[in-house]
Amino acid sequence: MEHTFIMIKPDGVQRGLVGEIISRFEKKGFSLKGLKFLTVERSFAESHYADLSAKPFFNGLVEYIVSGPVVAMVWEGKSVVSTGRTIIGATNPLASAPGTIRGDFAIDIGRNIIHGSDSVESARKEIALWFPEGIAEWQSSLHSWIYE
Ligand code: GDP
Ligand code: MG
Repeated sequence: MEHTFIMIKPDGVQRGLVGEIISRFEKKGFSLKGLKFLTVERSFAESHYADLSAKPFFNGLVEYIVSGPVVAMVWEGKSVVSTGRTIIGATNPLASAPGTIRGDFAIDIGRNIIHGSDSVESARKEIALWFPEGIAEWQSSLHSWIYE
């Protein structure tokens, strides 16, 4: 089964959207395999976004991510990386479709509430960075009601 790394950013936490966001992934049928609530250090945020270090918005992005606690999660399911991105919506919330998390709850690209891995390979790296201790081993008893 595929895994993805999902993070509710500090604005999502401050705005009281944690339950709503978790609920959307749960209701879809994906399984929660890891969950923690933490405030990260600047160097950790820089590692997470290392691919974007040359971008002009990099400093602001790091400031944003360290500005308060975040919810870090691992979700499991068939095609959860790409479907997770669909549930989240486009990077710029003004262009995200209604019905997506960013489309429903955000306006500015620099306050877009949530992160989701963009490929299976980034998911693997991000899960290793955020959950070095590993993730839970369990299978939902609903499995055969969700998968054929
Ligand atoms: P994502 O995968 O959809 O989150 O988008 P990216 O990986 O391209 O960028 C990571 C994060 O950087 C985004 O979610 C935004 O929070 C932020 N970001 C991306 N592009 C911009 C930009 O042009 N301006 C600002 N201020 N932030 C940006
Ligand atoms: Mg990205």
